[in-house]
Amino acid sequence: QKGARRAPLDATKLEITLSTALKELPKPTELVFGETKTDHMLVAEHDPVTGWGSPKIKPYAPLELDPASHCLHYSTNLFEGMKAYVGPDGEPLLFRPDLNMTRMTRSAKRLALPVPDPGALLALIKKLVSIERRWIPTESGYSLYIRPTLIGTRPTMGVVPSAHAMLFIIVSPTGPFFKTSGPTVGVKPISLFAAYDFVRSWPGGTGEVKIGGNYAPCFMPQTQAAEKGYQQILWLLEDVEPKERDTVAANGEAPHAKSPEMRITEAGQMNFFAVMKREDGDLDLVTPPLDGTVLPGVTRQSCLDLARFHNLPPEDPLYACLPGIPANTRVHPVERVVTIEEVLGRNKDNAIIEVFGAGTAAVVCPIGRIGYRHSDICFPVHPGGYGPVSRALLNALEDIFVGKTRSEWSVRC
Ligand code: PMP
Repeated sequence: QKGARRAPLDATKLEITLSTALKELPKPTELVFGETKTDHMLVAEHDPVTGWGSPKIKPYAPLELDPASHCLHYSTNLFEGMKAYVGPDGEPLLFRPDLNMTRMTRSAKRLALPVPDPGALLALIKKLVSIERRWIPTESGYSLYIRPTLIGTRPTMGVVPSAHAMLFIIVSPTGPFFKTSGPTVGVKPISLFAAYDFVRSWPGGTGEVKIGGNYAPCFMPQTQAAEKGYQQILWLLEDVEPKERDTVAANGEAPHAKSPEMRITEAGQMNFFAVMKREDGDLDLVTPPLDGTVLPGVTRQSCLDLARFHNLPPEDPLYACLPGIPANTRVHPVERVVTIEEVLGRNKDNAIIEVFGAGTAAVVCPIGRIGYRHSDICFPVHPGGYGPVSRALLNALEDIFVGKTRSEWSVRC
């Protein structure tokens, strides 16, 4: 019975204190990701005995934390990243927020933190976005970035789970990832450095949840990649089948006597995609599987779903042809292990049409080259930067974000 009376997170208990000194809106062209703070934020606290207290929307301000707080020592921090756009009637629209809520629940469970009720959390996000709606830029490619965050606030240094927690939500207006000329024309594909000395995730690890502890260890490799002239890291993982490992050990040979295959997990803070030609003239849209080492991206799922919808018979209610892709060219969504050696080999055979990353920030982001070992794998160059499939996915997604295409994925606040 212990804990039975702990209150769940309850959006109907929301208390609102509006700011009396609203800030001046920034010029959209001057926005730098994550820098602009809006007028308000939402905070709710969880107590180990009483449960969730009343959520509060109040003027944006620093948090006060005990220096012994669990999150400051043991990284009990997790977050989500999602965006609100302005729909045709001026109302804010969220994109597939249920997927973010599911992921946040999984992250909270993985860190043994109190789990906020996903329905209540979404209701609170909608309320905050509605209050901050004047901050959503209406220019194409701009949006309001939403950062729901959960931290462990147990105020002692004992190394045990934190039943004290704080949920907070902040929002920040943001521009297109590619600043030069808008999201759909003239972008420069990014460069990745394939990391072979560092790994981001591994079987049994936490790569599939969105926790702060996954990000901190990436900054040093990222800095080293930048020094070598690459923008982000291509994260790899040695792909040694357990059977093979056992055989090697049984033979008494050194582990990994054979050169291990390096499987691709993610591209910086994006999911990795490669578009490959098939012998039948169709295309494969290949991405690594959700095997625990890859973050289940909302954009990743949407790219796979859009490819699936493109392949449906036209009479199917979900059928939607990808813009610019002939209806009779099927784009097969394929979730399977893809190694850097395969990408290298298939690119040499001219079987790779394009490689790109997918994530909330950039939506889709073409990848021009990957530095691997001592040389670069350079992918085909496309006019405007995007290959045919990434351009089609970007256009289809952007139309859904702003409600130009009606879709169940687009949710009103
Ligand atoms: N992988 C990582 C490591 C990320 O941080 C993100 C951004 N959340 C993604 C993939 C893409 O996920 P989403 O499409 O949900 O933004």
